[in-house]
Amino acid sequence: MRSIQHWIGGVPVGGSTSAAVHDPATGLQSGEVVLGRRAEADLAVGTAARAFESWSEVSLSRRAQIMFALRDLLARHEDELARLVTAEHGKVLDDARGEVVRGREVVEFACGIAQVLKGEYSDQVSTGVDAFSFRQPLGVCAGIVPFNFPVMVPLWMHPIAIACGNTFVLKPSERVPSASNLVAELYAQAGLPDGVFNVLHGDRETADALITHPGVAAVSFVGSTPVARHVHEAASTAGKRVQALGGAKNHAVVLPDADLDLAADQITAAAYGSAGQRCMAVSVAVAVGSAADPLVERLADRARAIRVGPGTDPASEMGPLISEAALERVTGHVEDAERAGAKLVVDGRGAAGPGFFLGPCLLDGVATGMVAYQEEIFGPVLLVLRAETLDEAIELINANPYGNGTALFTSSGEAARRFQRAVHVGMIGVNVPIPVPMAFYSFGGWKSSLFGDTHVHGAEGVRFYTRAKAVTSRWPAPAVADGTSSSPPSS
Ligand code: NAD
Repeated sequence: MRSIQHWIGGVPVGGSTSAAVHDPATGLQSGEVVLGRRAEADLAVGTAARAFESWSEVSLSRRAQIMFALRDLLARHEDELARLVTAEHGKVLDDARGEVVRGREVVEFACGIAQVLKGEYSDQVSTGVDAFSFRQPLGVCAGIVPFNFPVMVPLWMHPIAIACGNTFVLKPSERVPSASNLVAELYAQAGLPDGVFNVLHGDRETADALITHPGVAAVSFVGSTPVARHVHEAASTAGKRVQALGGAKNHAVVLPDADLDLAADQITAAAYGSAGQRCMAVSVAVAVGSAADPLVERLADRARAIRVGPGTDPASEMGPLISEAALERVTGHVEDAERAGAKLVVDGRGAAGPGFFLGPCLLDGVATGMVAYQEEIFGPVLLVLRAETLDEAIELINANPYGNGTALFTSSGEAARRFQRAVHVGMIGVNVPIPVPMAFYSFGGWKSSLFGDTHVHGAEGVRFYTRAKAVTSRWPAPAVADGTSSSPPSS
């Protein structure tokens, strides 16, 4: 039985309260994680605040060197990290490796921190006067993250915060705590001074202690929409800078002129990968006009062919859900939709246990009034809606409260351009189902998928973790011995 402790000031730290950690593939308890309370939050934030005094003075090149070393260590420990993710989250090992790689790309971006932190300089804005601006770190930054990407989502945050000169307290999801401790050890091996990166394990009480802590300057949150809204309000009220990314209902629109085999392959991977527990999962396919019947047929064939099993089995293509409660909630949505008149074309219920398994489910004829359409399901369930035109599909997307990601499958450049300009969504794919931006762009949705005004990583991440100063300076020349000025004549 694994015992997972906090990591504060470069050492493991215990606690008095703990929670069970499960292996979703067996349903059995695999470990125990400590839950931080006010005392541990004070210790973590105080440690990070002391570390900030010296870390914020470290040179840009030294900070970049540590990021290069971390990048290398993450590559060497990719398999170990992936195995920790699979053991606690359940996703198949290939997916787990994929998230380590996507997270590492943010570290690669942070290696170039000297380039992205360059300021601006205007010579001679007035006679003998220059103006320039530069950006400085904020102090202690907190990251509160969801269960579904235990390595990648934290890596959206801390490499950039730290490369910008901040110190960091990460609160992982209590359901998948182990990988964060290995990342902390890798930071130490990379040469990061103790106290710059800290892991405070815990639940909502721990999160609230950080969000309102007077020593925390900024909060980055990723999780469900109700909690994102709460974190945004509470942290803003406490006077902190905050970015809070929420849930999603991502639509993939398929036009009749699309390559339907390609669309079906891509949508299947995007709907059922990681058992649908991805904020960029496609959970709704909108089939336009004559695309509908042939698309549903193809989606059904592909969904039935997915091999469901433990994430550690190389033959598995889809693992279990995170918990018993998630299994009951997702199954409940499928049953509700069927009762409300949707057609259950592929029924994934009854997948072999003993873990929290649900096979791929495909529901056709879904209407916008159904609860399964209105709520984020976060499981291996794909809903199919039908629309007559592209404009009708766009209206559908824009009427939805979420605006994280969307995709269009078409062979028309005109349709793609109209779609990408008209949808009220932050991340758009054209013949690409999960349009997660590269690390050197920024990730974030619109509407109820993001509270706050900055997206994560890329240039917006750097802006979030720094604040600007603008300096206007004049340096009059000193008078020389014979009483004349050494300054050149002004024009
Ligand atoms: P969650 O909102 O339940 O938990 C997220 C984090 O907040 C966890 O660390 C948890 O301990 C903490 N928390 C839970 N309740 C809290 C409360 N009342 N007050 C303060 N903190 C609280 O989310 P989850 O179930 O871990 O993750 C799945 C959700 O995350 C989905 O809705 C998914 O769409 C979303 N998500 C969004 C993105 C994105 O980029 N927009 C990315 C990944 C996941």
